[in-house]
Parts: sequence; structure tokens; C-alpha cells
Amino acid sequence: MTPFCPDCRAEYREGFKNCSDCGSDLSAALPPEADNREEVNSDMLAVYDAPDQMSALTLSSFLNDNNIRTVIKSEQIPMYDGVAMMLFPRWGRVMVLENQYEKARALIDEYLSGETLAEDESPPA
Ligand SMILES: [Zn+2]
Repeated sequence: MTPFCPDCRAEYREGFKNCSDCGSDLSAALPPEADNREEVNSDMLAVYDAPDQMSALTLSSFLNDNNIRTVIKSEQIPMYDGVAMMLFPRWGRVMVLENQYEKARALIDEYLSGETLAEDESPPA
């Protein structure tokens, strides 16, 4: 079997026990690729500016119910909460995958207009 360095992913000839670059113990097979969390994040778009955490969580779970994957990114800095609130009029953003953006956008429009309608449901005087 060909030894590999698990850290620099370099291939070595049989007989080598340690990586000549970093000194790591060589293994018989390459470990699986590091998790692709970063890759996913780079394909995500902000679909909704949330004024507060509650709105972000509510909208996020609404989208999850519709099979849309979401990530909430808070822009507030807890240490400087008062200052951050002034710098950013929104609390944070709800992010969705690029290929689900259009669907999420439509769902949010529907969701928000539904909310408005619910408020106007009181019978006319
Ligand atoms: Zn190495």
C-alpha cells in the first residue's frame, strides 16, 4: 500500500514512515476530505434581513418546514450590543443556498403578505 501524509496529503514511496515535510505519521490511505461547511457557506445568499433574533428564528423554521436549508448569521456583537444595534439596523440575516434562493424569496413574500393579511382580518366597522 502507498503511504500518504494525512496532513499535507502527499504520497510517499513504500518504506517511508514519516512525512519529510511535517513529520506526521504516514497512513495507508488518505483521510476523507475535510467537511465542506465552508463550501456550503460560500454558495449561500442572504434572503431576509431580520430585525431581531425572534424574526430570524421564526422565518428560518418556516423555510425549514418548506424543505429549504437555512443558516442564520447574526451581525450583532454581544460585547458591544448597544453599539452594534446602532451600527446595524438589522439583527442578522437568514441565508439560503443559491439554488433555493428564488423559492425561498417567493415563500417569504407569501409569508410576509400572509402576516399582513392576518392583521387586517378584523371585521370592518
Ligand atoms: Zn506532511
